Amino acid sequence: MLHPIGILGGTFDPIHYGHLRLAEEMLELANLQQIRFIPTGIPSHRTTPQVSAQQRSEMVKLAIAEQPAFVLDEREVQRSSKCYTVDTLRELRAEVGEHQPLCLLMGGDAFLQLHTWHEWEALFELAHIVVGYRPGFTIEERIESAPQILREQYQNRLCAASQLQQQTHGGIAVLGIPKLEISATVIRSRVAEQRSIRYLLPGSVAEYIYENHLYQHANY
Ligand code: ATP
Repeated sequence: MLHPIGILGGTFDPIHYGHLRLAEEMLELANLQQIRFIPTGIPSHRTTPQVSAQQRSEMVKLAIAEQPAFVLDEREVQRSSKCYTVDTLRELRAEVGEHQPLCLLMGGDAFLQLHTWHEWEALFELAHIVVGYRPGFTIEERIESAPQILREQYQNRLCAASQLQQQTHGGIAVLGIPKLEISATVIRSRVAEQRSIRYLLPGSVAEYIYENHLYQHANY
């Protein structure tokens, strides 16, 4: 049986220990062979105007350098047109073949917005979805107030992490993962206010931020 490949997309503006711990825990708990970090391409309303996609990507490369199971995938950064996760997954599926389990990884906050994603229901035909959630809790109570379409998919597809290897796509697994209270937004504002960002993200990424004068202005 093939171990699943994990996919972690994000703006990574900048990448921080919240992302890295999420990935490390998922690698272990879902028995993944590899995690591909895919920084989003075209700047959206969520990215910082003075930081380029290439710089966000460079910071991911620095952050994951010491973990051989983490791989930078620059396909979205290199694309000139707007790209949706569903298109990226279609490309990946074509590359890895139909027998390889794929897992789209995300935090609980991202999962609860999944129904707003472009062609979101097609995601289940391409990959499993693996959600990091507070240990000891289920998403159950928060999904109550989510739209019925998302609730139904959740209820029909919920599976254990151990089942992710048995199918190539279509499951939803929720893993208990402590969420570190770190966000890219907080890091950007701290840099702009000349406050310390030490221990919130790898030192190599902090150095890159200072050397390149990123996030100097408070337009986060
Ligand atoms: P911002 O502060 O700009 O909103 P962010 O830190 O939330 O950014 P994203 O790049 O948007 O980072 O997130 C990518 C993925 O990482 C999402 O699935 C999100 O749920 C997850 N994530 C972000 N921060 C954390 C964290 N502290 N702990 C666990 N997961 C996280």
